[in-house]
Amino acid sequence: MISISMLFLGSRVFAMNIDAVRFGAYPDKVRMVLDLSDISDFRVFTLSDPYRMVIDLPNTSWQAGTVNRNEQTFVSDIRHGKLNQDISRIVFDLKQPVMIKAAFMLPQNGEKPNRLVVDYQKTDQTTFQSQKGNIFGTLKTDHEQTETAQSTIPDFSVRPTESSSVETNTIAGIPLPPPNAMRPKRIHTAAPSVFKKHLIIIDPGHGGVDPGATNGRIYEKHIVLALAKALKSELLKTGRYEVKMTRETDVFIRLKDRVKFARKHEGDLFVSIHADSIKKPQVHGSSIYTLSKKASDAQTAKLAEKENQADLMAGVHFEVEDEQVAFILGDFLINDTMNQSKFFANTVVSSFRVNGLHTLDTPHRYAGFAVLKAPDIPSILIEAGFVSNAAEAKLLSTESHRKKLAKAIRSGIDTYFDYVHKNERN
Ligand code: ZN
Repeated sequence: MISISMLFLGSRVFAMNIDAVRFGAYPDKVRMVLDLSDISDFRVFTLSDPYRMVIDLPNTSWQAGTVNRNEQTFVSDIRHGKLNQDISRIVFDLKQPVMIKAAFMLPQNGEKPNRLVVDYQKTDQTTFQSQKGNIFGTLKTDHEQTETAQSTIPDFSVRPTESSSVETNTIAGIPLPPPNAMRPKRIHTAAPSVFKKHLIIIDPGHGGVDPGATNGRIYEKHIVLALAKALKSELLKTGRYEVKMTRETDVFIRLKDRVKFARKHEGDLFVSIHADSIKKPQVHGSSIYTLSKKASDAQTAKLAEKENQADLMAGVHFEVEDEQVAFILGDFLINDTMNQSKFFANTVVSSFRVNGLHTLDTPHRYAGFAVLKAPDIPSILIEAGFVSNAAEAKLLSTESHRKKLAKAIRSGIDTYFDYVHKNERN
């Protein structure tokens, strides 16, 4: 068991180069790529009046020279500098409102350096306004910053009187806690965690009386159990992990008992595995979800509602949540865990892309999933694909595709812990 709080405290010590900034225009998006000397935490968001897109990274050194851009990038100017002693900011002045579709880190791969990729597209004023609170990435404000700027992160690029508090003092709509509450309470410092195996809790959704999504004779509960087992064997092969599964057979388990199981065993990560279903049969691809009080979009809010009804589906009544859990949820601990969960989700999304797995356009989304509410364990829910899509339902029923998914998830988990350890050593 290790403390992952270190993850976000390491930014002070490592300075990273931004070696190049490149743009590519596609029919449906503009892709901006930052070549970096390292992978790191980041955050990307938009601001209005005037329209801007902002990228924050831990201390970086600008080696990118002058950046080439054309009309199709919607970028009129680029400025960069230090936001404070720990964070570097790049501001892209925009000619018109844009919507960020995705932002993710791709680790070095052969000749290709570490990259931060931001996909965006032009949008209208209304959509922009509804999107502009969304922060992609998990870079946090640190202590001093939170203290000196209770409600605003200074934006050196604009008139000093302008407040950008709405956009920046929350992450995914969740207010950032006061400075001293950022550290998880469950800190294990006794043993050098680098040599310890991490415990991964795999949670195959549904089971028993609750089949989950179905398409003819294809049941979500069977697919996700098979995928969970494939992931377990992938993880065990590395020798780096221990694995416990909330269910190994076709049995029903209540959502709160899945969370309890993970906490009882003090898991280091919690991975819930599902397969989705939707009325539009053409929709396919994987997506990754994390916990948030406010949903990222209406579709995800609906999905969470559906998944949260698993207990009802099985005829089990909702109970008042554990007092302890309810209490901790109101506590700041959960914010830290939620940030770690988002970072974890990003590493898995990156891994899906690197491994050529099809994802939804916005692959990382969030909402109030009950099964992700362990207050002290970074948790994600993976919708491996859509059983409502005939081709994907078939694919999910094959061992080879499940193995491919399992490998991608495992590699996301590897990256997550690589990063944790690197920051622990710093
Ligand atoms: Zn499900």
